[in-house]
Amino acid sequence: MTSRLKNGRFVKKRTADKINNALAGISNAKKSKVEIALDGKDGDKIPDENGIVTWKVIAKNLKCTSCRSLLDLEKLYEFKTGGLHSKFKIKCDKCAKLNKVNSGVKTKTVSDINSSVVLGAIHSGVGNTSLNKILACANLPQIRNQQYKRYEVIVGKAIESEAKDSCKRAASEEKELVVKNVKKLCDTL
Ligand SMILES: [Zn+2]
Repeated sequence: MTSRLKNGRFVKKRTADKINNALAGISNAKKSKVEIALDGKDGDKIPDENGIVTWKVIAKNLKCTSCRSLLDLEKLYEFKTGGLHSKFKIKCDKCAKLNKVNSGVKTKTVSDINSSVVLGAIHSGVGNTSLNKILACANLPQIRNQQYKRYEVIVGKAIESEAKDSCKRAASEEKELVVKNVKKLCDTL
């Protein structure tokens, strides 16, 4: 017995059921994700979804900046994500100091993990939609379109300046080589 998929392909019914179930699952996950995003509330508890952390950064940031006591991750509040970068607050149990915790390195408004993942998408030739599909399957936060475009510009500039530098390096190496060869030629004459 055959069934037809959304894209028009005919496959065995059992295979079609499996594919359709998987697609429905992804679609439901997307819907609930959109609902969460539209909700726009800051989380006052550890989120259910996965996240990416820079181990060395989180190990350092989970110590109170005032008394150096360990901070209790279960007491976090105002959890916010900007793409794959997360930040939240924890009050120290010992000295009551309010600590701001970042999940990774962020310089001004540019986070390392977001630039790396956008670079990865550009490098592998996929766009924001495909990247978000991978992130959704891994139950990781999405990168919003506007955010993706902003990082694309940042990463693009970095690629451009690196390309210029390597061109300059190649040009000066070539010049050196020519000078060397001319000297060698003069010596043999
Ligand atoms: Zn403290």
